[in-house]
Formats: sequence, C-alpha cells, structure tokens
Amino acid sequence: MQAVALGFDHVTKYYGDIRVIDDLSLGIKDKVTTAIVGESGSGKSTLLQLANGLIKPERGSVTVFHKVLDYRYLPKVRRTMGYAVQGAGLFPHLTVYQNIVLMAQREAWLTDKIDERFTFLIELLGLDPEFATRYPHSLSGGQQQRVSLCRAMMLNPPLLLLDEPFSALDPLTRESIHGEFLKLQAAESRAIVLVTHDMEEALKLAEDLVILKDGQILQHGSVDSIKENPVNEYVERLFVSRVSQ
Ligand code: ADP
Ligand code: MG
Repeated sequence: MQAVALGFDHVTKYYGDIRVIDDLSLGIKDKVTTAIVGESGSGKSTLLQLANGLIKPERGSVTVFHKVLDYRYLPKVRRTMGYAVQGAGLFPHLTVYQNIVLMAQREAWLTDKIDERFTFLIELLGLDPEFATRYPHSLSGGQQQRVSLCRAMMLNPPLLLLDEPFSALDPLTRESIHGEFLKLQAAESRAIVLVTHDMEEALKLAEDLVILKDGQILQHGSVDSIKENPVNEYVERLFVSRVSQ
C-alpha cells in the first residue's frame, strides 16, 4: 500500500455556528501531487490550515506521515511541510536571499549548504541569481511567486502545501510557472497538496483530485477515474465548465 503523507480522520471545524469542515476523512498519497478543487468558500484553505496546525479541529485528528499532529511541537512538524500562499506572502523588509534561506538559518545550517540549496532552487525556478540582493517589491508577481516556492522548498520538505499559489498570475506567467512546478516535482518528488479553484490547473499539475463542497469530499481519486466516472452532476459540470471557458 502506498504511504499516506497527510491524513484527516473525521475532522470537523467550526467557525461560529458554521461547520466549515464536516466530518471529513481523507488520506493524501505520498510522492504525488493531489489537487484540492472546490468553489470559493468550500473549505480548501481551512483544510490546509488544519494540516499545518494553524488551526485546530473541534473533532477528529490530522496525521502527517502517520503521526497525529502534536500541537505542542508545531515548529518541529512544520519543518516537514513547506507552505506557500496566494500573493507570495514574502517579508517585504528582507531580500530575496534572506526570504528564501530564513528557515535554514533558523535550523543553523552551514552557510555552504544554505548557498548550495539556494542556488539549486533559484535555478530550478528559472530566477536570475542577481535577484538575491533585491527586495520583493522590485519583482513582478510571477517572480515573487517563484521566490515564495523556493522559500517553501528550502528545507526540502517531504510535504508541500500550496494554497492557490498561481491564481493571481496572468495566463502567460502562470503557464511558465506551471512548467517549473512540474520540473520541481520531477527533480525532487514529494507529496504536494495543491489547492486551486481552477480545474484546468488541477488536471495539468496533479495526479489525484479531491473535490470539496461545503466542507465535505464529493469525490477523491485519480484524475482519470474522476473524469471518467464523476460521482454526480456537480462534479461532471466542473469538467464541462472548463471546456466551455
Ligand atoms: P476556500 O479556501 O475554499 O475559499 P475557506 O476555507 O477560506 O474556503 O473558507 C471556508 C468557510 O469558512 C467560508 O465560509 C469562510 O467564510 C469561513 N471562514 C474561513 N476562515 C474564517 C475565519 N478565520 N473566521 C470565520 N470564518 C472563516
Ligand atoms: Mg482559499
């Protein structure tokens, strides 16, 4: 059986009276990319925040590589997860280099090892090494998003959580960053959970799909199996609306 990188066991999360995640159970496979697809408000971001312990469920448990998330030791668990969000979320007062290597410095990596990893990542993401000394505001949105991916990858985490990382980009930039994303996955395969509301992006980048609606899973499986056998009309329409766009 394939290893599970991220597990949810009967997880329920409320905001006030609203059940945002509703008794959700899910095992996300190791070494592949799983896209979480759903319309705005379906609970996608909440699911990722539950995964990295930013928020705690009222019921149920989250497991990371088969270990129940221990909220007393979050920094340790988070070393195994990269996390990148829409709009890059870079520290504006730090240079590109400082943004990317921050975590490794906190982990007291040797400078040589840090610089080697830094160079490897910026080359993989197609960034100019000269950017190292620049500040985020002097970069385009696409370049910032690439830096954000480098930062999330710095510690070479076995699990990468991406919350709509490419949504704010123009179509051409998105296209080229998709190419880099696929290169990254080919160079160092890991479990990637990619949240997106864009089915076309999901089909291009992911092997598995999770269709989320109102905090519940409508369907989970390989891209092909869901395409061939959508569980209901709602899921079917997600594919159709993509074609008619
Ligand atoms: P998605 O990422 O799929 O758009 P979210 O997970 O952000 O959805 O949100 C799911 C639901 O939870 C929405 O109804 C949203 O308004 C609500 N929600 C999210 N975060 C909060 C919060 N911090 N406080 C209150 N409600 C929230
Ligand atoms: Mg969201």
